[in-house]
Amino acid sequence: MAKLWRIFRPDAVRAIHDEKARMSLGRYLSVASGKLPARFMVCKRVEANIDLSAEDDELWQEHEQGMKEFRMLLSRIDAGEIKLDELDRPDVSLLDLKVELAKRIVRSCHFCEHRCGVDRTVGERGICGVGRSRVASEFMHYGEEGVLVPSYTIFFSGCTFKCVFCQNWDISQYPESGVEVSPRMIAKLMENAKKNGARNVNFVGGNPDPNLHTILEALNECEANLSSVWNSNMYYTPETARLLSGTQDVYLTDFKWGTNECAHRYSKVPRYFEVVARNHKLAFLDSELIIRHLVMPGHLECCTKPILKWIADNLNQMVRVNVMDQYHPCYKAGEYKEIDRRITKSEYEEALRAAEEAGLRNMESSN
Ligand code: SF4
Repeated sequence: MAKLWRIFRPDAVRAIHDEKARMSLGRYLSVASGKLPARFMVCKRVEANIDLSAEDDELWQEHEQGMKEFRMLLSRIDAGEIKLDELDRPDVSLLDLKVELAKRIVRSCHFCEHRCGVDRTVGERGICGVGRSRVASEFMHYGEEGVLVPSYTIFFSGCTFKCVFCQNWDISQYPESGVEVSPRMIAKLMENAKKNGARNVNFVGGNPDPNLHTILEALNECEANLSSVWNSNMYYTPETARLLSGTQDVYLTDFKWGTNECAHRYSKVPRYFEVVARNHKLAFLDSELIIRHLVMPGHLECCTKPILKWIADNLNQMVRVNVMDQYHPCYKAGEYKEIDRRITKSEYEEALRAAEEAGLRNMESSN
């Protein structure tokens, strides 16, 4: 996930002037420069006309209605027809409703497609092992993509994947690491980060998905206009996707495996491709995105080439894509000889050629 070993990249601000970044991430850049409100700020202004103790299906129905209103309001705000501070805060907002729905999901957890069904509020644990949300570290990150830095990055403990080569294994595979955090604490950290020049808050881990309830509540408490970045393995459920919709300014995604066999062998997850492809389509319809693809040794034909072609064919040739060359064997990679090496220069060059041949025209690596 996040590149912990690349802490400082002095050329990062160059990307702010990158025209292709402006084309694909225009709204995010407007939020980052204070010209537009973050989506979660707009979400707080949409009224949810319902008692939050209602049944699940009634809450979801109201959520659909609220999302329609959200999309209309967002387009009016973006068109300059109305300003956020001209709008009252409703007694119950769409974001309140999302928080309530997320808190219900955690009681029979199905934030991700493992669908463990455990009640994490009474100490039960699913595959990720996450109970209450814990943060392993948080800091201003200068090693993310140029358009994102400085990025206030929060590393949640635990992950829904068990990648055998994980570079953050001490965080991702140890959900009890770090310290327990409350939504209020996260909101305060975000507000401080904004004062200190952060362009966004970047929720990562491990993986942020098991912490959706905490993060939505933090966004609800945060008064700073800060872009929200969902830095995820994209293995979440449609329910999670619905709750994320309208709250995230950028989906910073990880699209690694082109086949379910590769995903199962190295990340220990079933049905990878259909889940992650579906969620990329949903994210693309909902907001702006940057797709990361980590080139794995020996996985050009089965993973890199099909994924890059899939992006061009199913999303858009102007989606921002970061083809990453920094794979290095970590954690248990030594037990899998075929990935117990870095990629070669020629493998990376072939990956870049594949992106070009697929028709992708907005490559982060071309900055
Ligand atoms: S977030 Fe964790 S507990 Fe919830 S469904 Fe996924 S793996 Fe299971």
